[in-house]
Amino acid sequence: MVSPKHVCVIGAGVSGLAAAKAFSTRGHRVTIVERSTDLGGVWEPARSYPEVQTQSPKELYRYTDRAMPDAYPEWPTGPQVHAYLSDYAKSFGLDRMLRLNTGVVGMERRADGRPGWTLALSGKDGVTANENFDFVAVCTGQFNEPRELHCPGEEGFLAQGGQVLHSSKYNDASLAKGRRVVVLGGSKSATDIAVNAVRSGAREVTIVMREPVWRIPYFIGGLVNFKRILYIRAQEEMFPGWGIGTMARLAHRLAAPLVWANWRGLESLLKAQLKLKQCKMVPKERIEDGVNCSVPIATPDFYPMLADGRIKAVFGTFDHYEGDTIVMSGGERISADVAVLAIGYKLGVPFLPAAYQEKLVDADGQYRLYRLIANPDLPELGFVGFNSSFCTVLCADLAANWLVRYADGQLANQPTARQMRDNIEMMLHFKRVERPAAGVYGGLCVAPYHYRHFDELMADIGTRQRKRSGPAGHFQPPDADAYATFLASAPEYRVTA
Ligand SMILES: Cc1cc2nc3c(=O)[nH]c(=O)nc-3n(C[C@H](O)[C@H](O)[C@H](O)COP(=O)(O)OP(=O)(O)OC[C@H]3O[C@@H](n4cnc5c(N)ncnc54)[C@H](O)[C@@H]3O)c2cc1C
Repeated sequence: MVSPKHVCVIGAGVSGLAAAKAFSTRGHRVTIVERSTDLGGVWEPARSYPEVQTQSPKELYRYTDRAMPDAYPEWPTGPQVHAYLSDYAKSFGLDRMLRLNTGVVGMERRADGRPGWTLALSGKDGVTANENFDFVAVCTGQFNEPRELHCPGEEGFLAQGGQVLHSSKYNDASLAKGRRVVVLGGSKSATDIAVNAVRSGAREVTIVMREPVWRIPYFIGGLVNFKRILYIRAQEEMFPGWGIGTMARLAHRLAAPLVWANWRGLESLLKAQLKLKQCKMVPKERIEDGVNCSVPIATPDFYPMLADGRIKAVFGTFDHYEGDTIVMSGGERISADVAVLAIGYKLGVPFLPAAYQEKLVDADGQYRLYRLIANPDLPELGFVGFNSSFCTVLCADLAANWLVRYADGQLANQPTARQMRDNIEMMLHFKRVERPAAGVYGGLCVAPYHYRHFDELMADIGTRQRKRSGPAGHFQPPDADAYATFLASAPEYRVTA
C-alpha cells in the first residue's frame, strides 16, 4: 500500500511537466511552483532568441504519451515547442496544479518532524511564505542562472553607448540592425545569434570562441538526418561505457581499429561538407573524445557566412574594453556596439541548504546522483531533467517515471542506500578518469549513452520489455512510442488514501 503525498514540483519546464504528470498519475497531490510568468522553461517565449529551434528532431524531443503535431517540421521552432508544452499541460490537467510567479527561495527539513521539506515560496509581491511538502521534485534545469562576465573597461564601453547582454536577453532581432555585433561563445546559441545578427542587418558580426569544435549538420553528407547516425545504439556501443567487464573491454580493444576508422571517416565527411579548412575551423580534438551534451548542431549558414566573411571568427576570449573597442585575449581589437555573451549558465540548486549542497555536489562540481535522479543522503527529494542529453524530453519523462516509483518504494530494483552510494562512486570514477568528456555540466549528461541509461531505468522500473530487438534495436534512434509501451508493461499501482 502506498500512501498519497503532497508533492512540490519546482519548475514548469519540460521536466517539471513530466514530473507533475508522473506523480499525479499515481494519485499524488501535486503543486507545481514556477517563478516565471509562464510555463515552458527555456522555451518560454520571453526567454527565447529569434529563430530558435530544437537541435533534436521532433520525434526525439517529445513525451512518451504525446507526439508532436504532424504539421510540425522535423526541428520545431521555439514557439511550436512552447505550444506543444502548453497543450500537454492542459491535456493532463497539469495547468491546474501550476502556481506561476512563485519562486522557491529556500528549503529546510520539516519542522513538524514528518518526512519532507518546508519550502520558502516567494510570490510576485516579494512576500515569502513557508509551505510543507512530503516530497520535492527539483526540475529547475541547467539553463536558468546566466553566467556573468565582467571585463575591465566595461563601464566605459557602456557609457559611450555600448551594450552588453547575455544571450538569453537577445530576444529582439532589431537589437542587431545596423550595429557592430560581437558574440562571445561557441555553442549553438552563439552561432544561431551570429547568423541571426547577419540576417537582421548587422553592420559587422564577429564571433569569439576559444577554439573550433565539431558541429554536426542537420543532414550528414547533406543527405542523412544525423539522428540516423548519432543516436543509434550501434554508434553508442563504440564508446566503452561504465562498469563494463573484462570481456567487454577486450571486445572494445579488438574493435578499436574499426571504431577509429569510423570516426576518421565522419571527421573527413564533416570537413568536406562544412568546408572547415577554408573556414579555418578544423577542431584539434578527435571527434569521439568530445561527444557529450555540449556538441552543437551546426547552425545552417554559419559556415557559409564565415567563408564569405559575413561573420568573422576570432579565437580567444574578451580581455578588456577600451572605449568602443573590445580587446581580445590574443590582442585583436574589435570595435563593437553590442556584445552578446553566449557563455552559458551556472549550474546549481541555490535554494538547497549548504549542508545538503555538500551531499549533492563534490568540490570539483560533479553531482552525486544515482541514475542522475536521486541521492540517498537527500531524503524525500529527487531531480528530474538532470539527466540531460540529445533527447531531453524523453530523458525527463523516463526519469519522472523512475522517480515516482522510487519515492513510493515501487521500483522493481529499489536500491539500498549502500547500493546507491557505491554506484555513485563508480560513476564518478568513470567520469573523472575513464571518460572525462562525461564530466561535462557537472556530470549531468547521458549523451552519448542514451540507450545504456534508458536500459538501466527500464530495468529498475521493472518493465517486461526494455529494448527493441533486431535491426530496429540497433540502427534506429530511441523511439518514444516504444518507451510508452515498455512503461505500460511495468507493474501497475496507485496510491491509496
Ligand atoms: C535554446 C535552447 C535549445 C535547446 N534545444 C534542445 C534540443 O533540441 N534538444 C534537447 O535535448 N535539449 C535542448 N535544450 C536543452 C533544454 O534545456 C532541455 O531540452 C529542456 O528544455 C530543459 O527543461 P527543464 O524543464 O529541465 O529546464 P528549464 O526549461 O530550464 O525549466 C526549468 C524551470 O524551472 C524554473 N525555476 C528555476 N528555479 C526556480 C525556483 N527557484 N523556483 C521556481 N521555479 C524555478 C525556471 O523558471 C524554469 O521555468 C535546449 C536549450 C536551449 C536553451
